[in-house]
Formats: sequence, structure tokens, C-alpha cells
Amino acid sequence: MKNIVILGATGSIGTQSLEVIEANRGFRAFALSAHSNIAVLETQIRKFRPQFACVTNEEKAAELKIKTADIGTKILAGTAGLEEIAAHPEADTVITGIVGIAGLAPTLAAVEAKKRIGLANKETLVTAGDMVMERAGQTGAEIIPVDSEHSAVFQCLAARVNRDNFDSEVKRILLTASGGPFFGKTKDELTQITAKEALRHPNWSMGAKITVDSATLMNKGLEVIEAKHLFGVPFEKIDVFVHRQSIVHSMVEFADNAVIAQLGAPDMKLPIQYAITYPERLSMHGNEPDLTKTPLTFDKPDFETFRCLPLAISAGKTGGTMPAVLNGANEAAVALFLNGKIRFLDIADLVEGAMCAHKTMKRPSLSQIFEADKWAREYVCAKLHTLH
Ligand code: NAD
Ligand code: MG
Repeated sequence: MKNIVILGATGSIGTQSLEVIEANRGFRAFALSAHSNIAVLETQIRKFRPQFACVTNEEKAAELKIKTADIGTKILAGTAGLEEIAAHPEADTVITGIVGIAGLAPTLAAVEAKKRIGLANKETLVTAGDMVMERAGQTGAEIIPVDSEHSAVFQCLAARVNRDNFDSEVKRILLTASGGPFFGKTKDELTQITAKEALRHPNWSMGAKITVDSATLMNKGLEVIEAKHLFGVPFEKIDVFVHRQSIVHSMVEFADNAVIAQLGAPDMKLPIQYAITYPERLSMHGNEPDLTKTPLTFDKPDFETFRCLPLAISAGKTGGTMPAVLNGANEAAVALFLNGKIRFLDIADLVEGAMCAHKTMKRPSLSQIFEADKWAREYVCAKLHTLH
């Protein structure tokens, strides 16, 4: 029996992780977390009977404790509770389905406790990739990507039998991007985009923040940084292709020009399950890809219109605290956009402004990363009244 901890159980990744657990007799929901949605969390607790549940909002945690008094689940609160379940001695695998930099501290706790981590929260490696990968190397924690592109690359790299010669054998990592709902649009056409339009993703159903990131292509930029850290390759060896069908989840090009790809239906349950079962595979029902349906196309992304992608790559290349500033400014700007406070194209402007105003600090400590994040959010708020 594998004990699974799901951080962010009420979200898109979290609920799909629970579907994976439900379909496999060998997996058990050991601990679940939510930020404030205790109605959904209570339903999950009644169904899955986890040992622990954590609510980061302390008031809501107290409410949930009363509501679930008839069940044996122990209710924890706050970020300390998150870190406790992420590092619990009985936990086998921790799925990180929290959105944003809020996922960093509990992921680090899981790294310190030498867990198998199914990493969905990409902001962890974007903001603190050097530190997290270094500590994982030291503690022996296993970081298995859940992000579909990185899971694909991870699966393609498994085609290598010889574990040495990585640098000379692997020529390029080719990340695919759906292009989002606004592929092919010009800047002029993007000026009046509403949150509702940005939330209509053509292929994937995901949380609001990552869906907006997919529309701006910031998501792909964050994924380039994530790939750099996960696979230890320089930015020059990572390329992005727009692939509208979301069937090829990503590819690796080798020294002899062989390109190996992983194909599948756009369904996160596959990478979630693979992160739990790796190096083995279990059967999965209902997500067979139909390869006869569509031609597969690959295009170069439009870096001029979708500026968040080159901004992220530039922040990644600068390194230090710059990716945390990019990420913090983006999180703040996306929240403002979702609340109708700024326009779609303002997101890139605000992120760029924050990056220009920030002097990066090399090899930052964890508290310096959090300070950079906070500074970037304040920068975005301060700039708000200067827009329009
Ligand atoms: P979501 O918004 O659907 O869910 C977010 C979860 O995090 C919720 O359970 C919420 O309660 C919790 N949460 C939110 N703010 C929190 C905070 N401050 N502290 C603690 N918990 C908090 O998001 P999602 O789409 O499931 O994405 C989760 C992560 O996985 C993101 O980093 C995203 O980039 C990544 N990811 C998602 C998908 C996908 O298909 N949804 C694919 C690849 C990667
Ligand atoms: Mg992805």
C-alpha cells in the first residue's frame, strides 16, 4: 500500500490525483490539503478517510475540525501543518498540487524528508530551482515531474540505457506548447481580452492561474526554467514548439538526430500515476489517444506578441533572485487580471517592469527568495495606478 500525500487536494491536480488513487487498490490518500475550500475538502475526507487533512487558512481549519469531529481524520492548520504532512514518516509520495510560490516551503520539507515527490507545482523550481535540486541530490529525495511536458521528457530520457554521457548524448529538449486560446492573434487583437476569454483553454482543463499563464505563454516560460533545473541542461539546449493538438507532450533530440517523443491524450492522470509508479507502469482506462483523428503540427512560437515567454527565459538565464521576481510579479499581475483590474497585455508589461527594476542577487537564501517575491508583488501593486 502506497501512502500518498496530496498538497492542494481541492484543485485541478489534486482532484485528478484522487481519481488516480480511487482507480488503484494499491494507493491510499494518506493526507490532503486545501487553502480554504473546506466544503470540497470535507467531501474528500468523508470519501477517502485520510489520516491527516490540513487547511492553510487557520479559521477555516477550526471550522473543518468541528464539521468532521465524527471522523478519525486529524485536522492540521497553516503552513506548519503542510510541512508536517509533506514530511510525515509514513508518507511515501507527495503530490505537489498547490499553485504558486506557496508550494515551495512544503516541497522543500518533503525534499528534506527524502520523499518521492510528484512535482506539479512548477513555481518551486522556477523560484528556487538551484536550492531544491541541490538539496534533493544531497538528501536522496526523488523529484519526478508531473507537469505533462516534463513527464514526457523524463519518459523520453528513459530511452537511454547508459546513464553516463548525458551531456554529449542529449542534444536538445523540445518542449511543446498548445499555444493557448490566442495562438495566431496579433497584439492589437489582444488588447481587449477578458478574463473569461483567457480562461477558455482549447485542450486542458486546469486551475485559473495556470490557464491564464497558458494564454500569455508565461506557462511555457516557467516550464523552460523548470526543465533547466529538472534535467540539468543549459537554456541553449531547450526549444519550444507550438503544437496545437496537445498529443505530443514533449520530445528529446539526441546526438545522432533521433527524436524521441511521448504521445498521449491530454490527461494529467497519466503523468500523476507515472510519478507514483515509476519505474513501473500500471494500466489506465479511458484516456487512449486517438491517433487517427488529427494531423500533428509544430510551429515556432511568436515571441513578439507573447512576451512573457522570452521574459521568463531571460529571467532564467540571469538566475539568482530574478526568476522569483518574474514569478512573484506574474502571480500578482494574473490575480489582478482575473479580478478585472488590469488588461491582458499589462501582465507582460508589469513583469518586465519588475525585472528591469530588480538587481539580481546570486545564490540567494530561502528568505532572500521570499523577499524578492514579496518585493515583486509590491512593485506590481504600486504600478497599478500608473496604468491606463
Ligand atoms: P488549482 O487552482 O486548481 O488548485 C490549487 C490548489 O492549491 C487548491 O487545492 C488550493 O486550495 C491550493 N492553494 C491555493 N493557494 C494556496 C496557498 N496560498 N497555500 C496553500 N494551498 C493553496 O491549481 P492547479 O491547476 O491544480 O495547479 C496546481 C499546480 O500544478 C500549479 O503550480 C500548476 O502550475 C501545476 N500544474 C497544473 C496542471 C493542471 O493540469 N492543472 C498541469 C501542470 C502543472
Ligand atoms: Mg505543462
